[in-house]
Amino acid sequence: MKIIRSIKEMSNFSQMMHIKGKTIGFVPTMGALHEGHLTLIRQVHKENDIVVVSIFVNPIQFGPKWLWLKEAKPRSSGLEDYRRYPRNLKLDAQLCEKAGADVIFCPEAQQMYPGSYKTYVNVSDLSDCLCGKFRPGHFKGVATVATKLFNIVNPDIAYFGQKDAQQAIIVKKTVGDLNIPVQIKVMPTIREKDGLAMSSRNAYLNKEERQDATVLYQALILAKNLIREGNINASDIIRKMRQLINKKKRAQIQYILIVDLKDLKPVDKIRDKVLVALSVWIGKTRLIDNIIT
Ligand code: AMP
Repeated sequence: MKIIRSIKEMSNFSQMMHIKGKTIGFVPTMGALHEGHLTLIRQVHKENDIVVVSIFVNPIQFGPKWLWLKEAKPRSSGLEDYRRYPRNLKLDAQLCEKAGADVIFCPEAQQMYPGSYKTYVNVSDLSDCLCGKFRPGHFKGVATVATKLFNIVNPDIAYFGQKDAQQAIIVKKTVGDLNIPVQIKVMPTIREKDGLAMSSRNAYLNKEERQDATVLYQALILAKNLIREGNINASDIIRKMRQLINKKKRAQIQYILIVDLKDLKPVDKIRDKVLVALSVWIGKTRLIDNIIT
């Protein structure tokens, strides 16, 4: 497995592979790899000749600071969150290699965003709701880095996790609108045995918080069951989810929304498939999860 740090070397490598007729599958990550990432990488290995994993903690998606909006407590600033984001390239490289990666692309932030950097990709509307409402500029950072990485790595297929549903929808919109020739595949959320969605941020949870964190998935299952039983009233379902989550004293809801899968607008009466998404602070850690039902 190769570790490539230079943008130019990454581009040249991809070009060579395409000349040789190889397909490239790509998994963009921020590192601190867990089973969720590794499942993606194994899948890419099955479906492509070459697997490229990027490990890049993208500074521009962390934003200056959390906004103090209604239920959002600014428990950490964007800068703090960026600085304390877990980084362990040595371990990540071992895990990547075992899962079938051929290349890790890990550029320095300075190379991706030199002092002269000016260009950003913004997907309007889709970036301003759900998590975007509480993290202004976050999805601009995501769409920008995804565009840059697609241009550098030039993959045939890029793989994203359903865990970050809004991100996947925004990236799909970006490549569609900007005619970027890459197929986007969204893979199911990988969970711990008790249902907690795997996330690099779970490492911040202490023992009690870890126990309380299962309430996110429990609330989603509650919503799924209510919808299955014929409840079509989104606000009633959200109210019941809130009641469940509020029983955990370390949990503080940032948002719970039931939205349309395409435009992410809140749904009043549930008649089609919907995205049930939530963001909850567990202590000082903000966790997100969702299901489509
Ligand atoms: P991140 O390193 O958090 O930026 O995640 C990199 C990719 O892995 C994104 O497409 C995520 O959606 C995906 N991912 C993260 N956690 C999970 C999970 N638990 N299940 C499936 N995909 C995941």
